[in-house]
Amino acid sequence: MAKIVLDEIDKIYSGGVKAVDSLDLEIRDGEFMVLVGPSGCGKSTALRMIAGLEEISGGKISIGDQVVNDLAPKDRDIAMVFQNYALYPHMTVEQNLAFGLKLRGIPKSEIKQKVLEAAKMLGLEPYLSRKPAALSGGQRQRVAMGRAIVRQPQAFLMDEPLSNLDAKLRVSMRASLSQLHERLGVTTVYVTHDQVEAMTLGDRVCVLREGRLQQVDTPQRLFDNP
Ligand code: ADP
Ligand code: ADP
Repeated sequence: MAKIVLDEIDKIYSGGVKAVDSLDLEIRDGEFMVLVGPSGCGKSTALRMIAGLEEISGGKISIGDQVVNDLAPKDRDIAMVFQNYALYPHMTVEQNLAFGLKLRGIPKSEIKQKVLEAAKMLGLEPYLSRKPAALSGGQRQRVAMGRAIVRQPQAFLMDEPLSNLDAKLRVSMRASLSQLHERLGVTTVYVTHDQVEAMTLGDRVCVLREGRLQQVDTPQRLFDNP
């Protein structure tokens, strides 16, 4: 676990669009922070800069004690889940969950234990030997999340992870996400344009507008002072 600090970060795309404008935000250790706002307000760009997938035009980002501006994504101790989860189609759920750990040369017995633990948390135990094609959308998204948490990263970044699911599934996945966060306590940054999702999931919610921070507060206080 680690806090994430955004210190006056900017993003200017090559076309001249200022997607993120002097964003200052401290995400506390273990906090579930939601970035919310209308399409184009800079949420994804901000998240991608934290992940290192987008170069930062100005300012400073730190994860834990480390300034990560110049670190490649793989050298940042984070895991990401996107809306278009890419599972390996030829691998079973178990193999998908184990893949990242195998790459890191972790011993087999330890991999097995971690995979089982993640599968249990996400209700995936019955599906361990299935391939992605034989799973529902929600189950696939759970596998994507499992793959992210199994490494026990310092921070968990999610970009609209539920937006491809139908309304009913979104509601149940929200509950799963809250439970997961409660159990893991991992610092989480979650991007959505859905206000209900933001208010249900966030310990705090950061409202962005045209690349700038408009408000940041607990859901309750935002609800009381819109
Ligand atoms: P959101 O996630 O809130 O929808 P984005 O971060 O995707 O917002 O986009 C913020 C702004 O930056 C928008 O005006 C968008 O068109 C622009 N933008 C995003 N990605 C790029 C890019 N790769 N090149 C140029 N402009 C971009
Ligand atoms: P979202 O709003 O869910 O982030 P978008 O459909 O806006 O997704 O963007 C999808 C991809 O296109 C992203 O990689 C984003 O960086 C890129 N993109 C968005 N807007 C622009 C733009 N104006 N010019 C170039 N690339 C863009």
